[in-house]
Amino acid sequence: MFSKKILASVLFACLPLLSAKGYADVTPLNNSTSSKLEVGSLDVKWNHGSSNCATNKDPAIQVHAYNDNLVILRQNKCVNYEAPFMYLIFGEKRAILFDTGATKSATQFPIQKTVEALVVAHYGAAERANIELVIAHTHAHGDHIAGDAQFKGKANTTVVGTSPTAVANYFGFSNWPDGSVSYDLGNRTLELIPIPGHEDSHVAIYDQQTGILLSGDSLYPGRLYVRNWSAYRKSVAHLNDFLASREITHVLGAHIEMSTSPGVDYTVGTTYQPREHDLPLTRESLELLNTRLLDLGAFPQEDVQNDFIIYPL
Ligand SMILES: [Zn+2]
Repeated sequence: MFSKKILASVLFACLPLLSAKGYADVTPLNNSTSSKLEVGSLDVKWNHGSSNCATNKDPAIQVHAYNDNLVILRQNKCVNYEAPFMYLIFGEKRAILFDTGATKSATQFPIQKTVEALVVAHYGAAERANIELVIAHTHAHGDHIAGDAQFKGKANTTVVGTSPTAVANYFGFSNWPDGSVSYDLGNRTLELIPIPGHEDSHVAIYDQQTGILLSGDSLYPGRLYVRNWSAYRKSVAHLNDFLASREITHVLGAHIEMSTSPGVDYTVGTTYQPREHDLPLTRESLELLNTRLLDLGAFPQEDVQNDFIIYPL
């Protein structure tokens, strides 16, 4: 598509203009005013497990700083095959973690200790007492909330509940699952959009500072399990409409299950993915998902695309 090629050249041409603060002047898709999105790096080789987990020497949690203000964490496949991704975002007043992984045990999977150390490193030990750490979730499935207990009762830490009502009450949704809300981290606004369908309390998170969309289990390079087909179709359309006027740099989900071969996924439960798909998807991925759901219609059907598989349950 020609217009997108032009946009790509504009983005490329802007790269040498990065300021010392790491901001780039880029042109939003459907808007004539320029925006300043904070850039970061996804240049990371994710640990992808072992064929024999007894020999696996990777840390329980891999940590990659996208930039100084956003950290991506991944659980080791040999600790739990789901190997979910988790996202820690820093604002001036609070930090928020989306998802706490698939394992309860702090010994096997020290998510609280790891995140607390990142928070202290970011704000400084003295300032930590003035910062609230919020533990929230893309959705309530066990492989995204198992680490919650590690955070409960810790100082300056709030653990958000996992039911749709708890999520709606905490973030201030008045008409769940319609609309969206803004959530302020202190000079940094996240926008949360309810997207039930994979799971009832699922939200997508759009970060105005980086242009990153966190899509949880609703869109990632893998099997998009759909439990409520009509709700999911509505949610994806809603999300697609919501983002039409916003610039998206990356769509980051909660797992990788596809391989580098188009349309080919790893089997469920594998602990070893030596040729796994890259984590980031794009606006085009979301648009394609929406188009496929429209085309498939009201009757749930499996649909294999290069980068994801729509997988009704
Ligand atoms: Zn899930």
